[in-house]
Amino acid sequence: MNKSENVVTRFAPSPTGYLHIGGARTALFNWLFARKNKGKFILRIEDTDRQRSKQEYVEDIIEALRWLGLHWDEGPIFQSQRLDYYNSIIERLLKEGKAYYCHCDPEELEKKKKEAMARGEKPRYDRKCRDLGLGPAPGAVVRIKAPLIGITQFKDIIKGNISVPNEELDDIIIRRSDGTPTFHLAVVADDIDMGINYIIRGDDHLNNTPKQIIIYQALNASIPKYAHIPLILGPDRSRLSKRHGAMPVLNYKEMGYLPEALVNALARLGWSYGNQERFTVEELIEKFSLERVGKSPGIFNAEKLLDLNAWHIRNSSDEYLAKELVPFIKKLGIQEVTEQDTIKLVSILKKRSKTLVEMAEKSLFYFGMDVEYEEDAEKNYLTPQVLALLSDLTDRISKLESFGQKNLEEVFIKFLDDHKIKLKEIAQAIRVALTGKTVSPGLFEMMEVLGKEKVVYRLKRAIEHIKRKTVME
Ligand code: GLU
Repeated sequence: MNKSENVVTRFAPSPTGYLHIGGARTALFNWLFARKNKGKFILRIEDTDRQRSKQEYVEDIIEALRWLGLHWDEGPIFQSQRLDYYNSIIERLLKEGKAYYCHCDPEELEKKKKEAMARGEKPRYDRKCRDLGLGPAPGAVVRIKAPLIGITQFKDIIKGNISVPNEELDDIIIRRSDGTPTFHLAVVADDIDMGINYIIRGDDHLNNTPKQIIIYQALNASIPKYAHIPLILGPDRSRLSKRHGAMPVLNYKEMGYLPEALVNALARLGWSYGNQERFTVEELIEKFSLERVGKSPGIFNAEKLLDLNAWHIRNSSDEYLAKELVPFIKKLGIQEVTEQDTIKLVSILKKRSKTLVEMAEKSLFYFGMDVEYEEDAEKNYLTPQVLALLSDLTDRISKLESFGQKNLEEVFIKFLDDHKIKLKEIAQAIRVALTGKTVSPGLFEMMEVLGKEKVVYRLKRAIEHIKRKTVME
């Protein structure tokens, strides 16, 4: 790369669907490359297809990019608002004799196309109007004058040298009969106007590149560098779909994934850095390069993503997770949750949760005063045999002035010693008394988080429960 050149990249989605894994990966690579090179990243919404573009999708794309943290420096720029600009470019090409009006009847062209295909030839416009010097007319389109001889070539950073004999190129339409510019014209006109010098996009656009280069040349504009990134497949190596657990990006947010985890997984779809799998966003910016994007397809693996999420959860700060966790707890019906509560919960649950949804569910033991006993847990552990032990323990705990893990541990050592029992003989009963369940975070850390009032209340309630049960039997 020329040192003085400032990198400018763009993400140019067509808002005809929600932002999926593939689109998000394209956005990420453009963003990473711009950040790594201290360049600029532009968001452009390619909404010239009015039938298929929807506002709902525009909003989804924007929200998903924001959630992923892929902030853009310019935009969103909407192509639908730039029709005058595209038309001025088309007029310029017409004036310079680099484009021409074509009056051919579309039905006639369709017929010729079918005949060519039947002969096993590549269908191409026969250039009937190319040199007729026609002017505008109802139903007329504008076509580019593609060179007739020579080759069009470029060096793709990922795919290598690509070259196409010009005789295989077509005089593609750049303005439709309804006066709207075509996709290729709008893309090139914008990329030139916005100073895009690196075009990073899916390799489904590779075939479009020679066609677009023709337009650059007609406009005497310098051709950007291209990097066409490989397809994404599922673990069975078939085209990525829902079946592989691939979903719109914002579904992952709802399912309790951290954006950092998704960014990490997306980065690894085609790009690698030795054997390293886990990356923070800062590390990705530091290490990313287009040269390390491979030629072979990226494999999306939903299980790996889950593992990455667990790792990112473990490595996030308590403050950050607390903030992220609050809405998930609220969704479970606990409205009065505060960030203060969640900070304590997060510190003991982050090692044990693969998603924020799981973490929210595990945090429920903390809220309210009463717990609901799971049937088997209650039957097996809240038994008359532990009644005296629980009562004594409750007395000892009630007397505690400081309620930290250390104080609790001291009380327990003494308590176990006095009764000549092992912790495991009473631990489950306490766990059930405090959480209703047999699985919970570590006993002492959980007690500390719950606080003395709740611990004593719940132990007493369990004692009452056992007594009632004994009387009834
Ligand atoms: N709008 C095109 C798409 O969504 C991308 C065009 C480009 O990157 O050149 O596939």
